[in-house]
Amino acid sequence: MTIKTLIRTIPHYPKPGIQFRDITTLLKDPIGFRMVIDAFAQHYANHNVDKIAGIEARGFIIGAALAYKLGVGFVPVRKSGKLPAETIGHDYALEYGADRVEIHTDAVAQGERVLLVDDLIATGGTAEATVALLQKLGADVLGCAFVINLPDLGGAQRLSDAGLVPFSLCEFE
Ligand code: IMP
Repeated sequence: MTIKTLIRTIPHYPKPGIQFRDITTLLKDPIGFRMVIDAFAQHYANHNVDKIAGIEARGFIIGAALAYKLGVGFVPVRKSGKLPAETIGHDYALEYGADRVEIHTDAVAQGERVLLVDDLIATGGTAEATVALLQKLGADVLGCAFVINLPDLGGAQRLSDAGLVPFSLCEFE
């Protein structure tokens, strides 16, 4: 059993032609979930992580468990209008339309080493916007961790080209 084989693919979700990679089947498997967190924890053990930033919503699940395992704090990065205190935001383009990510202004301190976590990287737009937010707060973004990379969509390459360091546990073509 591997992490990849526990991920379910839903054809034509949320739109015709899209193959949705669904990690709920991985998360509900106690061994699979533990394999994910242990693999990230091992990879980042010596990276001096101060804090994990998880992207709504699946990044919360992975990011919070990893933060607990590494013994560091967790901060949520959310879609527009969800966070109660003072926030900063970053707008980014989607294939059709636009989106926005927000973070509390006191979530991260100047110079803190932050690891970004999400379930999947496709075009990299969400991760890049989140990195921009974290950097606005003065964070040192030490890496970006994803369960799944879709290399054909080029996001991980975009992050690498921008000097960021993507890491993923499996790939789907
Ligand atoms: P990107 O901004 O194009 O890299 O898209 C990544 C964002 O969209 C992440 O927050 C993912 O959770 C979400 N996403 C895109 N495609 C999928 C998928 O097939 N399964 C799960 N999440 C996806």
